[in-house]
Amino acid sequence: MSERKHVIILGGGITGLAAAFYVQKYGKETGKPITFTVIEASNRLGGKIDTIKEDGFVLERGPDSYLARKTVMTELVKDVGLGDDLVSNETGQAYILHNMRLHPIPEGAVMGIPTKVMPFATTPLFSVTGKARAGLDLILPKRKDAQQDISVGHFFRRRLGDEVVDRLIEPLLSGIYAGRIDRLSLQSTFPQFVETEKKYRSLILGMKKTQPKQEKSPITKKKKGAFLTLQGGLSSFIEALSKAVPGESIKTGVSVKAVERSEDGTYSVMMEDGSVMKGDHVIVTTPYHVTKKLLGESLFPVGFHDTKPTSVATVAMSFNEEDVNFNLDGTGFVIAKSEKTSITACTWTSRKWPHTTPKGKVVLRCYVGRAEDQDIVQQSDEVILEKVLDDLKKIMGVDSRPEFYHVSRMIDSMPQYEVGHKEYVKKLRTVFQQELPGIRLAGAPYDGVGLPDCVNSAKMAVDSLFRS
Ligand code: FAD
Repeated sequence: MSERKHVIILGGGITGLAAAFYVQKYGKETGKPITFTVIEASNRLGGKIDTIKEDGFVLERGPDSYLARKTVMTELVKDVGLGDDLVSNETGQAYILHNMRLHPIPEGAVMGIPTKVMPFATTPLFSVTGKARAGLDLILPKRKDAQQDISVGHFFRRRLGDEVVDRLIEPLLSGIYAGRIDRLSLQSTFPQFVETEKKYRSLILGMKKTQPKQEKSPITKKKKGAFLTLQGGLSSFIEALSKAVPGESIKTGVSVKAVERSEDGTYSVMMEDGSVMKGDHVIVTTPYHVTKKLLGESLFPVGFHDTKPTSVATVAMSFNEEDVNFNLDGTGFVIAKSEKTSITACTWTSRKWPHTTPKGKVVLRCYVGRAEDQDIVQQSDEVILEKVLDDLKKIMGVDSRPEFYHVSRMIDSMPQYEVGHKEYVKKLRTVFQQELPGIRLAGAPYDGVGLPDCVNSAKMAVDSLFRS
């Protein structure tokens, strides 16, 4: 029997391409004869990563950066030769919209948890009662059943009260998950807070003790940003990643229809065009609803994981500097759910990421689409733009029109990690281990939605196939 193993990777987003890179790395390190093929349905690689580069602008349709402290992504960026292109964000005040006014997020608030007394005590964002209720965190006992997963909302409401959750924590977190905070799994999204409560009881005291001092740039003496991106946009990373593997190992414009296990334990991947590819292992990185269809719905335990992913759209707009009559001294704002706006957040892109914008221009990027209100995402570009401009006029007084704009819809793009997510994924993987032992599930639906989480998920999939 041949020693050569072939791995088929379904999906050419960041997870699929990272998986290809790690399979190749393993083959090189061990000298084992392993080949692989990435199969991507669209004609473009990158999945949700999609950078538009035109006339000196670098605009992202989907993700724009990643959390620097999750170093697995930086290592991969360096591995593909782009270490020198890494750029961190300019820091500055972020704001929150409440009662149609922009309030600075109180200094020292970490994910909304106050760690400094004065900025929290003096902010007009919360009522006196709201502040007093948050202070109860200092004396409330810790949860007895800390191992049991609960919602992020439930956890923070108990410790800090509804006001701090609704006006600060919810808008900050739903920017990342576009989900319902009262259904979002604490264990799968912010396990560090479970640990903080376990160790320090009070979140305020715990965060105060554990927050690392923010590094300052040796040149500008300004605080270093917590996020990283690439000078040429995130698509430049996708390009470098795809060039790091042999060209013939990537097939674009080929859609997978089904995967079947053969009697001899190998797998047949059937394409929409009627062709079939045989492999010893399959790493599946397609969106969850696609994966279910490809592998057979009956394998998937019934459960909450069937909650529809949320659709969002981003609107990137370029204005002439003199047309934006607003002091953009900061990085942008997020919006509390109670506000009657179409947008959910706005990044002052040219300020936060100066390399993206030519001099004399201002780029603003707004998000629309909430878990409980998806209709707007389906509207035409023109309708979405008008709604966004209407909001910007009310909030920032911007009443000029952009020189150009891009509306980017990401349909069913944000997997919803509901309470019990971790247990469900564990159960799912156990079923696969028994029924389809050569298949691995990787990517945003399982191990975290952030780009570094996807890279890590790809790495774990390859390790569990070959290294364990
Ligand atoms: P995908 O990128 O979805 O890739 C899956 C691939 O599978 C796609 O290319 C698709 O075409 C392909 N495919 C589908 N069906 C088939 C088929 N039948 N056959 C073959 N191929 C198929 N994360 C961050 O860290 N920072 C951010 O700033 C950030 N911002 C975001 C903003 C938005 C608007 C969105 C939607 C997400 C954001 N995220 C961010 C999350 C992050 O972008 C995603 O979690 C990540 O890109 C998912 O990568 P993936 O490879 O797992 O999946």
